[in-house]
Amino acid sequence: MFKKILVANRGEIALRVQRACREMGITAVMVYSEADRDAKYVKLADEAVCIGPAPSNLSYLNMPAIISAAEVTDAEAIHPGYGFLSENANFAERVEKSGFQFIGPTPESIRLMGDKVSAKQAMVRAGVPCVPGSEGELPDDPVAIKRIAKSIGYPVIVKAAGGGGGRGMRVVHTEAAVVNAVQMTKAEAGAAFGNPAVYMEKFLQNPRHIEIQVLADKHRNAVYLGERDCSMQRRHQKVIEEAPAPGIPRRLIERIGDRCAAACKKIGYRGAGTFEFLYEDGEFYFIEMNTRVQVEHPVTELITGIDIVRTQIMVAAGEKLPFTQRDIQLRGHAIECRINAEDAYKFTPSPGRITTWHAPGGPGVRVDSHVYTNYFVPPNYDSMIGKIIVHGDTREQALARMRTALLETVIEGINTNVPLHRELMVDAKFGDGGTNIHYLEEWLAQHKR
Ligand code: ADP
Repeated sequence: MFKKILVANRGEIALRVQRACREMGITAVMVYSEADRDAKYVKLADEAVCIGPAPSNLSYLNMPAIISAAEVTDAEAIHPGYGFLSENANFAERVEKSGFQFIGPTPESIRLMGDKVSAKQAMVRAGVPCVPGSEGELPDDPVAIKRIAKSIGYPVIVKAAGGGGGRGMRVVHTEAAVVNAVQMTKAEAGAAFGNPAVYMEKFLQNPRHIEIQVLADKHRNAVYLGERDCSMQRRHQKVIEEAPAPGIPRRLIERIGDRCAAACKKIGYRGAGTFEFLYEDGEFYFIEMNTRVQVEHPVTELITGIDIVRTQIMVAAGEKLPFTQRDIQLRGHAIECRINAEDAYKFTPSPGRITTWHAPGGPGVRVDSHVYTNYFVPPNYDSMIGKIIVHGDTREQALARMRTALLETVIEGINTNVPLHRELMVDAKFGDGGTNIHYLEEWLAQHKR
C-alpha cells in the first residue's frame, strides 16, 4: 500500500480523500492555492504545499506545479478528486511518466471516454445500449446531415464530441434548422473545447437521469454498485441525488449493471467510474462515462456500505477488489442535497465569510463539507460548499431525515440554497419519486419569486 498520496484538489473532495488516507494510515499531502491557504484541512494536513495563486489555471490546473509538489514531498500517488485535472488524459500520462501512480483509470481509458463519439462507439461494441443517433462524427455535407437527421427522426440533439458540463448541445426540431444548427455547434465546440467534431442523437422528451457506479481493479475484476437517480437538475447541473432510483424494477437495473461491469472488463477499465444513462419508458440509453469519483458518490456508499474512495486507492495500488458482485447488497435509501453558496432562487453566487455554520447530525446523517464558522468562501471556484447526505430504511424515512437535517442547518453570512432544498423535500411530486430531468426547472418556473 502507498505510504503517501498527494491530493490534487480542493474543498470537500480534498477533505474526503484526506479522511480516507488517514483511515488507511497513509500520509496525505494537500496542495492549495493562495485563496485556500487558511482552509482547515490545509492547516490540519500532515503536509501541505502551495501550488500558486487563486485562479485555477495557475494552481489546481497547473500540472508542473502539482507534479513538482509530489516530487518534493516524495508522494507515491496522486488522487485527482473530481473536476480540475481528474479527466485530463494528458495529466494522467504526465503523472505516470513522472513515476507516480495516478489514482484513476489509464490515460487511454480517459481519452477513449473523454471523446463522446469514441465513448459511444466503444459502448455499442461492448453491448451497452446507446441513444439512437449518427454512427460517429457528422459529415459537413448538408444533404448527408439531413439524411442522418431524418433517419433518426426529429427532434434531434446535436452534441459536441468534446463537450462537458452541459455545454455544447443544441436541440433541433425541424429539417429547415438542422444544417445551420450543426454548423453553429461545430464552430462553438471548436472554440470552447478545441475539437469541432459533433454528433447527433435522438432527443428524448421526458427522460430520467440514471447512472451506474462501477469499480474495477487491474486484474480485470469489475462490479457495479447499483444506480443513482440524478434527475433533479438545473441547467444540466445536479442538485439532488438519490439511490436506489424510485420505481425502476431491480431486474432492469441488474441487466444494465451487468452490461456496465462487462464493458469495464472489455475496455480494461480500472478504478471508479460512472456510466450515465437517460431512462425513458423502461429503456436505458448511454450518454457518457465519467472516469473519476463523482460528487454524489456518498449515496452509493450509504446503501452499499462500500467506501468508494478507499477502494479507488486500493485498486490503484494494485490490490484486487475485496468483494464480488454477489457480496454487494443494497440496504435502505439515501438522498444527497448539494449545498451551494448562491441565492436559493436567483442562483447568483454568494461567496464571502460564513459567520455561522451549524451542521446537522443524528442517526443516518452525513455531512461532507470543508467549511466552518468564520470560513471565507473564495469567489474563484465552484459554488458548492458541501453536501448533506441521509440514509434511512425506506425512502420515506430518508426524506424525513433530510427534512430534519435541513431544519437543523444554520448557515449565516452568505446565501445558500438550503431554503430551496427545504421546499423540495416537502414537494408532493418529488415525494412520490420518479420525476424527470425537466421537473426541477418546471418547478422553479412555477415558484418564481
Ligand atoms: P455533459 O457532459 O455536458 O454533462 P451529457 O451528454 O452528459 O453532457 O448530457 C447532459 C444532459 O443533457 C443530460 O443529463 C440530459 O439532461 C441532456 N441530454 C443529453 N443528451 C440528450 C438526449 N439525447 N435527449 C435528451 N436530453 C439529453
